[in-house]
Amino acid sequence: MTSREDHLMDWLRDAHAMEQQAVTMLSALAGRIQNYPELKMKIEEHLSETKRQASQIESCIVRRGGDTSTVKDLMGKFVAMGQGMSGAFASDEIIKGSMAGYTFEHMEIAAYRTLIAASDAVGDPETSAVCARILGEEEAMASWLADNLPAVTAKFLSRDEAQGVEAKH
Ligand code: MG
Ligand code: FE
Repeated sequence: MTSREDHLMDWLRDAHAMEQQAVTMLSALAGRIQNYPELKMKIEEHLSETKRQASQIESCIVRRGGDTSTVKDLMGKFVAMGQGMSGAFASDEIIKGSMAGYTFEHMEIAAYRTLIAASDAVGDPETSAVCARILGEEEAMASWLADNLPAVTAKFLSRDEAQGVEAKH
């Protein structure tokens, strides 16, 4: 039988791998955005938050007696998923990337809700508080994307039409 402490450690490592993957994905996305300055700025802002989240989760792992060398070994865990989201951008990459970002935030929200419950279950209020703070950042990012995806889509469609007209002339 796996103890609840072991499950918590396992899920903290998963979260750390997830944040590492988020750093890769957000960097790739921000680097490719040219015509959507607000989106680019927001993604860069969340990239800084994400780097901080990764180190905060790493601190929780260490404080609970986990080994940081295994943290690095597990970094590839979410790579497949992240590549599916961040690779092979098509002409509508801004839309695909935004959708992937929105999906990723919700995966993070699910992960931190689970971590808060698991931290509470083992009586680790510090880890619970760290995860609650991070959860707030993920929810804020998800909600910003929800509010802004319609405008990004509308702008993409207008630009796409304008470029189509240009190409014909
Ligand atoms: Mg995050
Ligand atoms: Fe996030």
